[in-house]
Amino acid sequence: MRTLLAGNWKMNGLRTALAEIRALGCALAESPPAGDVVICPPATLVAEAVRAAQGTCIAIGGQDCHSKAAGAFTGDVSAEMLRDAGATFVILGHSERRQVHGENDAGVAEKTLAAKRAGLSAIVCVGETEAQRNAGRAVCVVVGQLAASIPEGIAPGDFAVAYEPIWAIGTGRTPTTVEIEEMHSAMRAALTERFGHEGAGIRLLYGGSVKPDNAAGIFAVPDVEGALIGGASMKAVDFLAIVRGGSKG
Ligand code: PEP
Repeated sequence: MRTLLAGNWKMNGLRTALAEIRALGCALAESPPAGDVVICPPATLVAEAVRAAQGTCIAIGGQDCHSKAAGAFTGDVSAEMLRDAGATFVILGHSERRQVHGENDAGVAEKTLAAKRAGLSAIVCVGETEAQRNAGRAVCVVVGQLAASIPEGIAPGDFAVAYEPIWAIGTGRTPTTVEIEEMHSAMRAALTERFGHEGAGIRLLYGGSVKPDNAAGIFAVPDVEGALIGGASMKAVDFLAIVRGGSKG
């Protein structure tokens, strides 16, 4: 399976940051990666990022979208608008959206259908809080989120899943590789139960404090087919090191 490495710039980056995309594109041209590489800049930069990535292997994605194609939704961006700007991916249900904007699984499921409608590949995020993990409920919470965030009518080829323990995002802390394996194996089992053998082809990403020095260990975990990377994706040199460490060939 091709790996998928997606960078999430969150609400960071002015036009000067596009130089990082150009630098990454040049470096990857010299030695193309085995998997897919995506950068998800803020919405203001999507169209320019697409231009900056032209002729490179880098795809551009959004960080969220509305479930409707258009309408009276001030401040929102639709999947169709992202596609029109040249994006081909969209992150959905990131924990910062769930926690700060009150998004729930049902809303994420609607957005996932919107992504499909617009021709975007969705990266659907799930993950437990530290309290839920300490209570021994991590797998149950994440498998439940997964079931409810992936809508009926979606095909296995339409989306990837990013397991992002909330307590690992931006903290420098990560689960052990055993804990990642346990979670990814539970997600794989849930997806194959739902989608049959095609569930085995859905890419499962890990996200949460992935850095150049821990990427190789994380990517060696079974059922990890890539990563969603926040802080370390803003600098071409760091992201490149992760891409190099993350290629399973
Ligand atoms: C993220 O934003 O999805 C993320 C995983 O951030 P970081 O890599 O900075 O922990």
